[in-house]
Amino acid sequence: MTDTCGCPPEAGSAVCDLPAQNFQRPLRAANACPECGKTGKPVQGQTVKSLLAVTLREVRDVEYLFCRTQTCPVVYFSPDGEQTFTVEQVRERVYQKEPNAEEVFVCYCFRHTVGDVRAASSESRKAMVDDINTGINAGQCACDLRNPQGSCCLGNVRGVIKRREKMSALVTD
Ligand SMILES: [Zn+2]
Repeated sequence: MTDTCGCPPEAGSAVCDLPAQNFQRPLRAANACPECGKTGKPVQGQTVKSLLAVTLREVRDVEYLFCRTQTCPVVYFSPDGEQTFTVEQVRERVYQKEPNAEEVFVCYCFRHTVGDVRAASSESRKAMVDDINTGINAGQCACDLRNPQGSCCLGNVRGVIKRREKMSALVTD
């Protein structure tokens, strides 16, 4: 067995006789980010195209995946794991990568930042969520083109609100 032949140790032989072309890499978990190993979420091609800050000549005709891992620099990757686009190659700062940065948008369509949500009173937060809902119902959102995750921000907005309320509850206790 050699380092490169990929034969399992139970194959028994100390030196592998197989020709190199029989080498097969162990299968990568399906849709796993090549950098952090976590499963990505499929995004539409138009999301990748509108959010990338690099030439779209690099975009292949595959279903890219979005990596949500905060500490991972990869934003989009190809299903085969061969191609990645990192935070520096995306036009917007990505909420999932910087969930505590005040100036980063949590709602990209109606331009609410993490800081806006945090600073708002609980009535204003409710009004913010209502405003987003109204926008969605009026067909004014374009999450697939503006939000790096390619889908509706409401879950993230609610998450910021929830964490903020938990924190203020802790402070007043
Ligand atoms: Zn990742």
